[in-house]
Amino acid sequence: MDGARGHETRSTCPYCGVGCGILLQPDGAGGLAVRGDPDHPANKGKLCSKGSALGETVGLGERLLTPQINGEAANWDTALDLVADRFKATIAKYGPDSVAFYVSGQLLTEDYYVANKLMKGFIGSANIDTNSRLCMASTVAGQKRAFGTDTVPGTYEDLDEADLVVLTGSNLAWCHPVLYQRVMEARKNRGTKIIVIDPRSTATCDQADLHLALAPGSDVALFNHLLTQIEDKGALNPASLAHVTGLEASLRTARADDVHKTDLDASELAEFCEMWIGTERVVTIFSQGVNQSSSGVDKVNAILNCHLATGRIGIPGCGPFSVTGQPNAMGGREVGGLANMLACHLDLENAEHRAAVREFWQCGPLPDAPGLKAVDMFNAVGDGRIKALWIIHTNPAVSMPEANKVRKAIDACDFVVVSDITAQTDTARLSDVLLPATAWSEKGGTVTNSDRTISRQRAVFAAPGQSKDDWLILAEVGRRMGWPDAFDYENPAEIFREHATLSGIAANFGKDFDISGLSDISNPDYDLLAPTRWPISQTRKGGRFFADGAYFHADGKAKMLPVLARSPIEETGNEYPFRLNTGRIRDQWHTMTRTALSPKLSEHLAEPFVDMHPQDAKTLGIVPSDLVQLSNKNGVAILRARITSAQRRGELFAPIHWTGETAPSARIDALVTSHFDPISGQPESKAAVVAAAPFKARWFAFAVSIKPISPNATYWARARTKAGWRVELAGEKPVSDWEVEARRLFDISDTPVQIMQDLSRGETRLAFSENGRLTAALFVSRHPVAVMRDYIATQPGQVGDMVLAGIGAIDQPNPGPTVCSCFGIGVNSILDTIQTRGLMSVEAIGDALGAGTNCGACKPELNALLKRCSPIELAT
Ligand code: SF4
Repeated sequence: MDGARGHETRSTCPYCGVGCGILLQPDGAGGLAVRGDPDHPANKGKLCSKGSALGETVGLGERLLTPQINGEAANWDTALDLVADRFKATIAKYGPDSVAFYVSGQLLTEDYYVANKLMKGFIGSANIDTNSRLCMASTVAGQKRAFGTDTVPGTYEDLDEADLVVLTGSNLAWCHPVLYQRVMEARKNRGTKIIVIDPRSTATCDQADLHLALAPGSDVALFNHLLTQIEDKGALNPASLAHVTGLEASLRTARADDVHKTDLDASELAEFCEMWIGTERVVTIFSQGVNQSSSGVDKVNAILNCHLATGRIGIPGCGPFSVTGQPNAMGGREVGGLANMLACHLDLENAEHRAAVREFWQCGPLPDAPGLKAVDMFNAVGDGRIKALWIIHTNPAVSMPEANKVRKAIDACDFVVVSDITAQTDTARLSDVLLPATAWSEKGGTVTNSDRTISRQRAVFAAPGQSKDDWLILAEVGRRMGWPDAFDYENPAEIFREHATLSGIAANFGKDFDISGLSDISNPDYDLLAPTRWPISQTRKGGRFFADGAYFHADGKAKMLPVLARSPIEETGNEYPFRLNTGRIRDQWHTMTRTALSPKLSEHLAEPFVDMHPQDAKTLGIVPSDLVQLSNKNGVAILRARITSAQRRGELFAPIHWTGETAPSARIDALVTSHFDPISGQPESKAAVVAAAPFKARWFAFAVSIKPISPNATYWARARTKAGWRVELAGEKPVSDWEVEARRLFDISDTPVQIMQDLSRGETRLAFSENGRLTAALFVSRHPVAVMRDYIATQPGQVGDMVLAGIGAIDQPNPGPTVCSCFGIGVNSILDTIQTRGLMSVEAIGDALGAGTNCGACKPELNALLKRCSPIELAT
């Protein structure tokens, strides 16, 4: 396998930590064909809806193409000199800890390496942290406590070979869809059983043999109970335990824990323990539901304890398996991109490690204590301790807990630099200096996925405008700050070789991360580098860790940790009776800076929402499609109600993706309090407490337009469509003239309008057309607007006068919201086909419509639609 396949270039998907291989073929006119790489070991040709739609995200429409200083275009020399001078002056006046970098799991390993070297090696501060802190820092800390290093023991092949896959705090079907399909394949081939542990019933529960809807935060109590049952059933593994310390204390603590904290009944607990203990090959996959907690590290260790006690680790089909959220969260861990790590899994607090790295980098003294982790970093920005901040490829003004406070802190900071591909993010708008960076399809380097496989990302487009690679921007600043030799890199391959050489030094200290076998890789070989799992050295190659019982603590053993379940820090009560869980949806990524560019991806869920149990909705007087206002001491959010028994009573779920650019009143992290795990510093993003009430709008509206729409309303949420834009609106202030308001909204003055009004029902409908083609339409009502949105969204640019009816003509049935993004098939089309053709299976829907036959991410939703159709309906 090399860097090309025919006319296609091999690269890696820039979204989640599955790290799927992709084949890219530019069309010569700015477009890009994307398909899964059949030879990549992570995905074997499969892609999910997000990966499949990458080609829709490469346009230059919203790209930042020149450096900007205070909103004005500048040249690179001026911008880089300013960044270097301001950082130098701040350090000279206030010391190295007065500056900070906040970086991202989007960075390639080579970018990350240079950022870490600049901050820890040459600036002399450990104030570099990353948005991976919000994603998997608890796993890093838990694995270090148990294994002595941050080691993922297993590989993706274990998912093919397991007989039981336990998913805890992981909606794998939506967040890591290709891995979920891999588990489904194993289920088909070998009957792998599935257990889902999650307070919510998610798409991942679709094929589960057992779903444990436990109380939020009670995972430790559940795994402690399992540990006691492992002992009681005689399932402790003496051979494994010969390499493990801490069994007695862990068992004692586990017995002192109270399994009733889980809210699970005895039969559910018994079935869980029986399946886990009775199955030899068990993989426990865990993700944000475990990590994003004030007891996240303990949750990780409670899981690891059970695998260590039974020897279900390091052998085929077994092991604890952390799946990472970001494309290069693992690469960031490897270079030491977190504030509490050095480089190559070496320890900041270890004088010998520091001395070795200092000699290797030829730098001054390295910091001997951890720097500021994300929450503390932005607190320090807020209280003025951090006076110069460089934010790279991340959007903390939206994604950090207490996002309103963070936004204010960044705004007030003396000097803020943002490197990004677009100026249109909540954070970029707060910068003093904005630096245009290349995007994933324009840059080359490496990323490491969740199973330690290093893959190449390769450029298929030239850098547009004046954009530069991140490693180069960082190196330019390093040189200008006075370290020309240390940052005299010519290309990413040179940086990779340096990183690989340093990993060999780390391995001599007994560390797991070792890619020294690649330290002499030539530039051409680096260009051709095939996906390779570390370790890669003269003596070690890929594979699983710990099969030999050799761990990385000083005594060579693993540690079981005594851990006791702790509730989330904030408690619900009269003032804030609801527990708010936050998370991801299937077709969007982070703060949507790329996925929102794809009309196809916006068709699945076009508007921010809150999921609520039917009884809670009834108590609050909320019906489907109402707007709901959530509030607490941190802020307010307004979201569309989805009423579903997938939620436990008293618990809500809302997605994390919407921003000031797409739905300003739905920035959900504004409501999350910045409590964090005391060891990992990872925020408790899934356990805020809030009050909920109907949002009493005076009017509701739905609009479509060919041109972008800039609303001015208490609530709005916009999404791209194939025909232009669609927007939901609601307001509290009366509008006296809807035509005037509509012309302002659509920024059109003379375009002819058709108006339909029903004053008794408080409804107004306006359609603007030029040359017989619809340019924009607005539907207003006193109640949530009832029109065929998915049909109307296709109408801008079309000839016809039916739009004001709000429904399609008889020969234009409403497909409904998209379920299958790959083929654009809507819910109504699927339901109609199920009913008229009496379909009984997901496969039959696939045969009839194609839905679910490409990436497969919609299969759980297809199953849910099948269940909605009763046997009587199917028979008629
Ligand atoms: Fe990209 Fe989807 Fe693969 Fe994740 S599962 S790497 S988002 S294609």
